[in-house]
Amino acid sequence: MASPSSRRITNVYVHAPFCARRCCYCDFAVEVDRSPAGSRWLAVIGAELDTLRASGEAPLAPSLDTLYVGGGTPSLLEPRFIAGLAEVIEPRRLANPVLEWTVEANPESFSQGVAGVWAAGGVNRISFGVQSFDPDALRWMGRLHSAADAGVAVERARAAGVANLSVDLIFGLPDNVPRSWEEDVTRALDLEVPHISMYGLTVEKGTPLHRAVGQGRAPMPADERYREEYLYAAETLARAGYRHYEVSNFALPGFASRHNRACWEGAPYLGLGNGAHSYHGGRRWWNERDWAVYTEGIMRSGRARAGDEAPSAEQSRLEALWLALRTADGLQEEQLGAVARPVLRRWEAAGRALRSAGRTHLTPRGWLLLDELTVELESALEDPDTRSCGSRSSPVSPDGCAVRAPLPVHGGA
Ligand code: SF4
Repeated sequence: MASPSSRRITNVYVHAPFCARRCCYCDFAVEVDRSPAGSRWLAVIGAELDTLRASGEAPLAPSLDTLYVGGGTPSLLEPRFIAGLAEVIEPRRLANPVLEWTVEANPESFSQGVAGVWAAGGVNRISFGVQSFDPDALRWMGRLHSAADAGVAVERARAAGVANLSVDLIFGLPDNVPRSWEEDVTRALDLEVPHISMYGLTVEKGTPLHRAVGQGRAPMPADERYREEYLYAAETLARAGYRHYEVSNFALPGFASRHNRACWEGAPYLGLGNGAHSYHGGRRWWNERDWAVYTEGIMRSGRARAGDEAPSAEQSRLEALWLALRTADGLQEEQLGAVARPVLRRWEAAGRALRSAGRTHLTPRGWLLLDELTVELESALEDPDTRSCGSRSSPVSPDGCAVRAPLPVHGGA
């Protein structure tokens, strides 16, 4: 039987890098452009895919399970170019009656026209970059929408026939940004969408936020508040019937993201576009982040890879453990192995992990410390006799900005 990573690819990611403005915290592969040329974007994506087809690398399955268009701000493109992806990828591959086709959108550019064309083209899941409902917080972030725009966008999607909707929220904002996290969680629930994601704000080098933190203009929250906000949302959403199915993701029954789940389960995936990552046949590769450099490479040679690697068996094993422990399903006892088991037992004793029905999974308190778990598993794999106490603090970057890797702000609009 083919190993999971060498199967034909059923999950495809396409990056749409354009944003009208860069948010203060964002270091994603973004091109600031208020009216991007969609035809050019689609042609370059198509050219990259043609090269892969011709080379036989990354073979697509006859029928895809998921297609995810992320950004950037895909809703900034004329909607016919998002719908046009079906032609580029080939309609027969999208004929799966249970295909999950997600596109990310920002409320301010999600017009009725966008909603209608996307829905008619086959998009059946939309993920909105809402982040907050507080006008001051939205202004501070550099977002272009208002709190009311988020509700309007959700209604437009529903009116177009798309009910599988998600909203993203950001927690852990600086102390001087006046915002009620409780109010934001409540307002997200009021939208009655079946999926909510939440990400902790991280300070990435080179961003305006990084400079503001360095200059003392954006005091980042103490770990205490960061933890409280995360746990508050986890408890509130659980009470409202959402399953906390992954570190950052909550869904009503039947609405977990299948695209992300496939990645967490180690399924192969193809990423097209600048900065996109792929995994197939035991190899990982990733494209140039810069849109111009990527475009130039694709047009010249059909390729724009910035790197690739074949993870060692040990790396793959550690990664599989880590990915599985990001999810509420966790791992079966036998998957833990002799090395990871003692580490997880200590986490259980500390209330950071639970065992039930033969599986071990982390609790929300454990997820908050996922970076520590990575360090402990790594050292245990290197030295099975290592007995770490599990009390390391979160890694801190050289300039003192806390790196909260387990709960990053996601590249989703
Ligand atoms: S956070 Fe999203 S909307 Fe803001 S610049 Fe980054 S990709 Fe664009």
